[in-house]
Amino acid sequence: MRNKISRVPVREQDPKLRASNFEEVCYGYNDEEAMLEASRCLGCKNPGCVKACPVSIQVPQFIYEVEQGNFAKAAGIIAADSSLPAVCGRVCPQESQCEGSCILGVKGEPVAIGKLERFVADRARKDGIKFTERLPSNGIKVAVVGSGPAGLACATDLAKMGYDVTIFEVLHEPGGVLQYGIPEFRLPKEEVVKYEINSVRDLGVKIETNVFVGRTVTVDNLLDKEGFKAVFIGSGAGLPKFMGIPGENLNGVVSANEFLTRSNLMRAFDPEYDTPIYVGKRVAVVGGGNVAMDAARTALRLGADVSIIYRRTEKELPARVEEVHHAKEEGITFHMLSNPVEIFGDEKGWVRSVKCQRMELGEPDQSGRRSPVPVEGSYFDLEVDVVIMSLGTSPNPLIASTTPGLNTNKYNCIVADEWGATSRAGVFAGGDAVTGAATVILAMGSGRAAAKKIDEYIKGLN
Ligand SMILES: Cc1cc2nc3c(=O)[nH]c(=O)nc-3n(C[C@H](O)[C@H](O)[C@H](O)COP(=O)(O)OP(=O)(O)OC[C@H]3O[C@@H](n4cnc5c(N)ncnc54)[C@H](O)[C@@H]3O)c2cc1C
Ligand code: SF4
Repeated sequence: MRNKISRVPVREQDPKLRASNFEEVCYGYNDEEAMLEASRCLGCKNPGCVKACPVSIQVPQFIYEVEQGNFAKAAGIIAADSSLPAVCGRVCPQESQCEGSCILGVKGEPVAIGKLERFVADRARKDGIKFTERLPSNGIKVAVVGSGPAGLACATDLAKMGYDVTIFEVLHEPGGVLQYGIPEFRLPKEEVVKYEINSVRDLGVKIETNVFVGRTVTVDNLLDKEGFKAVFIGSGAGLPKFMGIPGENLNGVVSANEFLTRSNLMRAFDPEYDTPIYVGKRVAVVGGGNVAMDAARTALRLGADVSIIYRRTEKELPARVEEVHHAKEEGITFHMLSNPVEIFGDEKGWVRSVKCQRMELGEPDQSGRRSPVPVEGSYFDLEVDVVIMSLGTSPNPLIASTTPGLNTNKYNCIVADEWGATSRAGVFAGGDAVTGAATVILAMGSGRAAAKKIDEYIKGLN
């Protein structure tokens, strides 16, 4: 019986060892392990895993090919729907998507769809297999703003349809959060991110870095003067939030975004680079999402003793279960039901400690999670040198403010329908710029949906 085989565990770097290096935590499956795990799939006729995948990867079909040892064929099936399989296999929250809807999960362990996707993508890369099939060029220009997962997915599908696509990226390296946010030990940059971005380039997509849309060029310039027939905005949500508590301006208080950008994009963790990064001896990270886990685990690897301060309980932590598990294994301390109320500094203006208040859970809020309620008079101090704020991000308002008629909501998110159409004809948007901070695969799904709509829009212009 197929479903009697236990889920094949994946090999990982020893927690003690990895807590002081930036090498990848997970080693992934080898051929035999992947084929054995693939043999657990029931090949359902009406598979829940596919319905739960925002880019509709044909899961049972690719898993069947893995089981047969036809790894290149499996890669081709995934490539039809995803331009970033080695990325998604590593960072997608499969537990709440494909694997969360796998029939085997009802009574036991779901098929390890994410690890199999990663295996297939890594194997194809090692074997030098690429999928660059596209329709003949139609010479029609489309601009994409931002080279994160939303922009890359939109550009990929448009290029496959024959469009002449240029991505404009403000940073010096493309990839968005994949490049500047998610650390090397979860997502290797050279081997995985750059390789998959180059595969998008192989489809003919041009990427122009160091172009700040809204400053260097506006969306209207692109449409009216540069000859682009449509613009897709996938500019993400990179503006960090702060708490507004006393002491937040002290030296040593930093946003997770800045901290991670220094380490990942500017390679501060690498002794060969001279980018400064300060962790001191003790670091507190405020927040409980993937970003908080990444900041905490990065600070740990840079030599600090790290605590996470989170105002709800472990059950409500928004980070992926795997990330929380890895953080704990590596020795990060969790202060649950706690919230900072003030940060104290020394005479030179550097952080000395953070004062926290204990919380308890009250009624559910709008998100459905029980809201934290302060417990009167219950305070404690944590002595720390650095406080990393990881409280979420929102979109930068620059593009909207320089694009007349482009509607946004009160959170600065661009208002777009499920196909990415905005209040401006010819301007489409998707990913975190529309939803606020979300996930890689949702951003990719929105980029793909917008590509379809852009094609229809351009065809309707004639
Ligand atoms: C540290 C961290 C860890 C995360 N971990 C996970 C995870 O494990 N799993 C998961 O699914 N999701 C994770 N996420 C969320 C996920 O990465 C995002 O939801 C996703 O990257 C959004 O994609 P996007 O393309 O919309 O935006 P982004 O990835 O933010 O890309 C937007 C791009 O647009 C560029 N840009 C912005 N403004 C301009 C402009 N004016 N002109 C030109 N370019 C511009 C930016 O520089 C950036 O490169 C994480 C996020 C962070 C920050
Ligand atoms: S739901 Fe699970 S068992 Fe069924 S096809 Fe998908 S991965 Fe296979």
